Amino acid sequence: MNVILLGPPGTGKGTQAELISEHYKIPHISTGDMFREIQKEDSELGKKVKDLIMGGKFVGDEITVEIVKKRINQKDCKNGFLLDGFPRTIPQAEALDKLTKIDHALLIRSSDDVIVKRLSSRRQCRKCNAIYGIDKKPENEGVCDKCGGELYQREDDKEEVIQKRLDTYREQTEPLIEYYTRKGIIAEVDGEQAIQKISESIQKILG
Ligand code: AMP
Repeated sequence: MNVILLGPPGTGKGTQAELISEHYKIPHISTGDMFREIQKEDSELGKKVKDLIMGGKFVGDEITVEIVKKRINQKDCKNGFLLDGFPRTIPQAEALDKLTKIDHALLIRSSDDVIVKRLSSRRQCRKCNAIYGIDKKPENEGVCDKCGGELYQREDDKEEVIQKRLDTYREQTEPLIEYYTRKGIIAEVDGEQAIQKISESIQKILG
């Protein structure tokens, strides 16, 4: 089963992706996590990616498609995968269609108010990338429940970048809703419910 997650930043895609990945035993592939690794590199590309992320802009389609292509060709994706944060543009969706068949596109929606609140309180684990926030607090502040890693606030979750990310989403990613609606594989989920409720709705859709 090949699944993609759509929706604005801060709507809970990452949290739901962790749950879907555990339940259906398919790898969670987050292009955002991949780019956060790349931006740490002391290289031309690392610097370029960092500047784009901090400007609330997208990394180029060509390089993004390339890293996804490499990743979904790995052995653990044989029985399916879950893409979180990809595709984010029409050219990426078209490229993905040439690589494989997508079975479900899940669209998680939330209002801007909820998104801004969630993003500004979000913390991520430096080691395993687990996500925490107002709806899911760690047992010990600043420490990941899963692996004991340090929790940090993403630079692009700061208020000045959030609005730019929302604008970029509207301009470049929202047209994908129409794209997948035409293919008849999109299902919408209310992202303002409790984490468990959202997860139940998703399981009903995926079966
Ligand atoms: P995310 O963790 O999904 O919010 O992604 C963080 C940042 O990584 C985004 O704001 C983009 O700069 C970059 N990024 C992640 N996925 C993509 C993608 N599919 N296409 C282009 N840029 C991406």
